[in-house]
Amino acid sequence: MNKKYIIAFDQGTTSTRTIIFDSQGHIISISQKELTQHYPNSGWVEHDPIEIYNAQKDTFASVLKDTGIDAKAIAAIGITNQRETTVVWDKETGEPIYNAIVWLDNRTKDICEHLKNEGLESYIHKNTGLVIDAYFSGTKLKWILDNVKGARQKAEAGKLLFGTIDSWLIYKFTNGKQHCTDHTNASRTMLYNIKDLKWDETLLNALEIPKSMLPDVKTSSSYFGSVEHNGTAIPICGVAGDQQAALFGQGGSVEGIAKNTYGTGCFLLLNNGKDYVASENGLLTTLACSLPNKHIDYALEGSIFIGGASIQWLRDKMQIIDSAKDTEHICNSTPALKDLYVVPAFAGLGAPYWDSNAKGAIYGITLDIGKNEIIKATVEALAYQTKDVLTAMEEDTGKPINTLKVDGGASSNNYLMQFQSDLLNIPVDRPKMIEITALGAAMLAGLHAEFWTNNDINTIREVDQIFTPKIDSETRRKKYKGWLNAIKRTQTTNES
Ligand code: ADP
Repeated sequence: MNKKYIIAFDQGTTSTRTIIFDSQGHIISISQKELTQHYPNSGWVEHDPIEIYNAQKDTFASVLKDTGIDAKAIAAIGITNQRETTVVWDKETGEPIYNAIVWLDNRTKDICEHLKNEGLESYIHKNTGLVIDAYFSGTKLKWILDNVKGARQKAEAGKLLFGTIDSWLIYKFTNGKQHCTDHTNASRTMLYNIKDLKWDETLLNALEIPKSMLPDVKTSSSYFGSVEHNGTAIPICGVAGDQQAALFGQGGSVEGIAKNTYGTGCFLLLNNGKDYVASENGLLTTLACSLPNKHIDYALEGSIFIGGASIQWLRDKMQIIDSAKDTEHICNSTPALKDLYVVPAFAGLGAPYWDSNAKGAIYGITLDIGKNEIIKATVEALAYQTKDVLTAMEEDTGKPINTLKVDGGASSNNYLMQFQSDLLNIPVDRPKMIEITALGAAMLAGLHAEFWTNNDINTIREVDQIFTPKIDSETRRKKYKGWLNAIKRTQTTNES
C-alpha cells in the first residue's frame, strides 16, 4: 500500500497527543488526553509513566480508528516530548521504580548546591552547555537512586534503565527491544558532553550514575525501532525534544534561523551552526536536531519564565480581561504608552538576568493610567523580554539575527507580533501551521523514511503573515531604554 501519512507523538507536560499529517504537512486528525499532575510535596512535580504510555497508545489507536486510516498507510512515526523529565525503570519487568520527575520539579536544589561546592560549575557549562540547575535530568536521576529503596544496588548490578520521556516511550512501544534517545534529549540531561558527543564520565562519577543505565544516543532523524499495530510494524524515524522540534519545524536546520515560542513561558532558540559556543550572556547551549550525513548543529537557548502566563494573570487574578484574545483589540484601541512598563518577574527573572529573588513590578503609573494601559504594557512585556534574549544571542555570536520565526498561543496576537517587529527592527514571520512542534517531529521522521525530501521540507512550512518594523529608530531606542531602566529597578542584585 502507498504510504500516505506521517504520525507525530507529541508528549507534553499537560497532555499527550497523536497527530496524523498528510504529505502536504496538513493535519488530518488529532487525538488528545490530559495528563494528571502529581504534587506530592512543595516544589515537587511528578507524572505517572504508565499513564503517559497508555495515553500515547490510546490516542494512537483512536486517531487511526476515527479516521479509518490503515496502519499500512503510515510511513513513519516521529516523537517529540517534554524535555528533561526523568524516568527510571526495571530492565526485566519494564516497570518504573518511581514516578517520572518532571522538569519543573526542584527537589534536587541541594544536590545542585553540592555540585557547585565541588567546583563543577565551569566544567558543566563548558562541557554540557548548561548551568547547574534542578531543571535538568542528571540530579533527578541521582535523587531516584539515592531515595528509592534498593535502587542503587540494582542500578549497579545493571538492572535499571534511565530515560527521558522519548526513551521511555520507545522502550515500551518496542517491547523493550530499544533503549535509545536522540541528541536533543541527551543534551538536556546535564550528563552528556556536547563537545565530544558522548556521556560524560566526570559527571557520571560526580553524580554516581552507572553508565549501564544510559540510553544509546542517535541522530534525531534515524531509525529508533518499530511500533506494532494490528500486525503492521511502523518505524519510529524521528525523535526530538519539544523546543528543538519546533526550531526544526520552523526551518531551523539552517544556521542563523531563530524562533520564539510564545506559550505559558517563551522559549527562544537560535541555530548557531557547527561551532560550539558556551554563552557568556546567561543563555544555554544545546544540540539542535541532528540529521544523517550532516555535522551537528548547536543552538543557543533562552527561556523566559513568564510569557502568556502574565496574560492569564490579567484574566484570573487581576480579572481585567475575560479572555487572552481580548488583549489584541484593547492594545489596538489604547494610545501608545509613554514610560509605562510591567515587568512580570512573577517567578524571578530568567535569561539573561537570572535573578530568582526578583518580583514583578509596574513602573510609570500616573493619574491617567487605567486598566487598558496596564493590559497593553503586560502584552508589550512579552516583546521586551524577547528582545533581551535576542540581544544576548547576538552578543554571544557577534552576528545579527535577521528574522524571528514565531509560534505558540500568544503569537496569534497581531498587536504583539507588530510590536515585536517594531522593537527588534526585523521581520517577524508567523507560519500557518500552529502545531509546529509536532510538525517538526513529523518532518524528522518523514525525511528518514524517504516520505519527504529536503526540498519538500522546505516548502511544507507556509507563511501566514510577516510583520515588518514600522516605528522610527529614535522611538525604538527610547522605548527599550525605558524597559532596561525598569529591569534595573526590579533586579534585587542592585539592592543595597
Ligand atoms: P502552552 O503550550 O505553554 O500551554 P500555548 O502555546 O497553548 O501554551 O499558549 C497559551 C498561552 O498563550 C496562554 O498563557 C495564554 O494566556 C496566551 N495567549 C493565548 N492567546 C493569546 C492572545 N491572543 N494574546 C496574548 N496571549 C495569548
